[in-house]
Amino acid sequence: MLYESTRGQYQRKVSSAEAIKMGIAPDGGLIVPGKIPFITGEQLQEMTALDYRGKAVRILKAFLSDYTEKEIRECVEQAYSSEKFDSSEVAPVRKPDGSLYFLELWHGPTCAFKDIALQILPHLLTKAAAKTGEEASIVILVATSGDTGKAALEGFKDVPGTKIIVFYPVRGVSEVQKFQMVTQEGANVAVVAVRGNFDDAQTGVKDIFGDAEFNRLLQKEHYRLSSANSINWGRLAPQVVYYFSAYLDLAAKGALSPGEKINFVVPTGNFGNILAAFYAREMGLPVNRLICAANVNNVLTGFIRTGVYDRVRKFHRTISPSMDILISSNLERLLYHLSGRDHARIREWMAALNRSGVYRVDAGTRARIGEIFWSGYADDNETLTTINSLYRRGGYVVDTHTAVGVRVYEKYAVATGDSTKTVIVSTASPFKFNESVARAVLGEDAVRGKDEFRLLEELAAATGLEIPAGLKNLDKKPARHRKTVDRNQMTAAVEDILLRSI
Ligand SMILES: *Cc1c(COP(=O)(O)O)cnc(C)c1O
Repeated sequence: MLYESTRGQYQRKVSSAEAIKMGIAPDGGLIVPGKIPFITGEQLQEMTALDYRGKAVRILKAFLSDYTEKEIRECVEQAYSSEKFDSSEVAPVRKPDGSLYFLELWHGPTCAFKDIALQILPHLLTKAAAKTGEEASIVILVATSGDTGKAALEGFKDVPGTKIIVFYPVRGVSEVQKFQMVTQEGANVAVVAVRGNFDDAQTGVKDIFGDAEFNRLLQKEHYRLSSANSINWGRLAPQVVYYFSAYLDLAAKGALSPGEKINFVVPTGNFGNILAAFYAREMGLPVNRLICAANVNNVLTGFIRTGVYDRVRKFHRTISPSMDILISSNLERLLYHLSGRDHARIREWMAALNRSGVYRVDAGTRARIGEIFWSGYADDNETLTTINSLYRRGGYVVDTHTAVGVRVYEKYAVATGDSTKTVIVSTASPFKFNESVARAVLGEDAVRGKDEFRLLEELAAATGLEIPAGLKNLDKKPARHRKTVDRNQMTAAVEDILLRSI
């Protein structure tokens, strides 16, 4: 199978290994499969008996046709081992209160769903480098607002042929997130604090990628910069797997009749997770509606309802920070598929987004989006109330992002009367965003004046749940990364790290 750019100015078709190595197309577009593979009902049935790893091999093989089955199996086994995931099912489905199903995607080392893709990406990427004759070491540069940086560090730690450097803003990550990063182990990792906010760190990283002279210097030293961000095809493909596995697990338990359709509710930020659900649906998985859940940064809700994407609005900091996004990059892939692969129109819309922050899709594309997707949003207050009421109803504790999904599903059910069985995609462990979760479960008075580490303990004691290994005793681990730089010292920091320390 060959891949192409959404924008069509870069006309070469590339293999999946090249796609994963490139990350983004040279014309600024995203890389998409030339044809979406189809899984027949019979093939779907045959996958029922496989465990998560077996299912992952089947689905990834359909997309990564230039990798051998043996190569894919090696990647899958290194990524989804019992050492990395604290559930043997990797992505278990639970039904805590007798009605809604939850697909728990946070059993990996950093307790959020990004582990599922970032545990396998390094292996796919090093194989891609070998397959395409790349001789340099790969250096992953990441600017993070919290979750991605830690998940990428855990994924790339000690992977031969790679190094990873993560920049996080001094102002802008939680205490738990900061401790997760500065205590990071591994011989090929570096973590650097940047004086400034996330935009400063992100702009700094973009400048380094764009600095031709610096890249030539690195090339001489046999380094090649690469990115692990969510528009890389190697992050998207592994996410398709858990939609299949959730469906097949429900079918195996007898919860679905043959061919019965289900809904998925996906807490959405950059549109990566829900786009993987779209690919699963296009591949023939029996899916009815995809429900896109947003917080008050509800650009996507407006877009799905009206066909107008409008990012010209106030940015809100919420208690579901991984969804605080006004430009959902992966949406470009959806537009490509639903506009009938119309390169010219994609270019026009993306140019308008760049120029004025607004674009309107044509009526046909809008109608097709409306047939597949529904969207709503929930504010912080509703999020806290939802966490509280779920806990009271069945003792089940969800994180803030997942709670947005539950609340939006309630609105969907009222608005449409649809009674299709529904799976809420649970994107983080409740312990990862423990301050808000403790506030919702234990009450305002119980959290006042306490730091996040204390609240982890108290939340565990009150709910009877265990603190995940990745978050336990974080404040007692030694800080291994202490470098802090100004925004204009980031290039020098990379040079120093690569040529002198790791
Ligand atoms: C990244 C993230 C999301 C948003 O996922 P997208 O693929 O960006 O839409 C939702 N919840 C959590 C906990 C996340 O870390």
